[in-house]
Amino acid sequence: MTARIIRLLFAILLTAVPALAAADLLDDIKARGTLVVGVKDATPPFGFISPESRSVVGYDVDFAAAIARELGVELRLVPVTTATRVPELTQGKIDLIIATMTHTKQRERQIDFSHTYFMTGQKLLVHRDSGVRSVADLRGKRVSSVRGSTSEQNIRRAVPGVRVVSFNDYPNAFLALAQRKVAAMTTDEIILMNFHQRAPDPEMFLLPDEYISTEPYGIGVRKGQPALLNAVNRILEQMEASGEAAKIHAKWFGPDTDTPLKRTFRIGPANL
Ligand code: GLU
Repeated sequence: MTARIIRLLFAILLTAVPALAAADLLDDIKARGTLVVGVKDATPPFGFISPESRSVVGYDVDFAAAIARELGVELRLVPVTTATRVPELTQGKIDLIIATMTHTKQRERQIDFSHTYFMTGQKLLVHRDSGVRSVADLRGKRVSSVRGSTSEQNIRRAVPGVRVVSFNDYPNAFLALAQRKVAAMTTDEIILMNFHQRAPDPEMFLLPDEYISTEPYGIGVRKGQPALLNAVNRILEQMEASGEAAKIHAKWFGPDTDTPLKRTFRIGPANL
């Protein structure tokens, strides 16, 4: 009797396996004709609202558009924050995260990551007259950052006793610094460079040289979707080989931008 039930359960399980395998997100995306990507809308120059077009533009948005084009589908952008992007992905509200997201071993427990498509590192932004020139100067002081970011965790580890004041987005973290409510703002250098250069009085601020961490950006893919992950990686490899990725870099980080930055990396597997 028991053996028969077990055999029956196995039989049910075997018929269920092809059904599970068919729950392929890449097939779904192609069938519905739309790729839904979570992007930032207040983190220039990766994802922000263009004052001219009123639409979301940026380095991350250009990667989202290229991936949708290569998959032959329309692109729909969904604004996400640092704290909401992973839950939005795991709950199936978005297909991909392309939102200044660092690929970390800790985050790999929740989601998969594509190849690294941007490289930066964490720094501080401070008032020039504050005397703060390194993380060691922040002991017992207040530092602004964003909820759910690697920046928040890394600064706590680097400066025991630091008081992290977390906001939902970077414009508010910068405002706290500008209003001297905190001694420093901390996140990825490229984000800090952008807020620094766009400040009405950039000479008031500076970025100390010290790096707190390296931050390789990856595209977030739900776990158990190897076809989509492979497709994204193949497209990124093509974008590197064709020069399209370098062109997107030059558009947002070229000499005439707020954040001139030499491209010192190539797209490829993460080296964590
Ligand atoms: N790259 C860092 C992170 O993924 C900071 C930028 C962000 O908040 O998205 O947490």
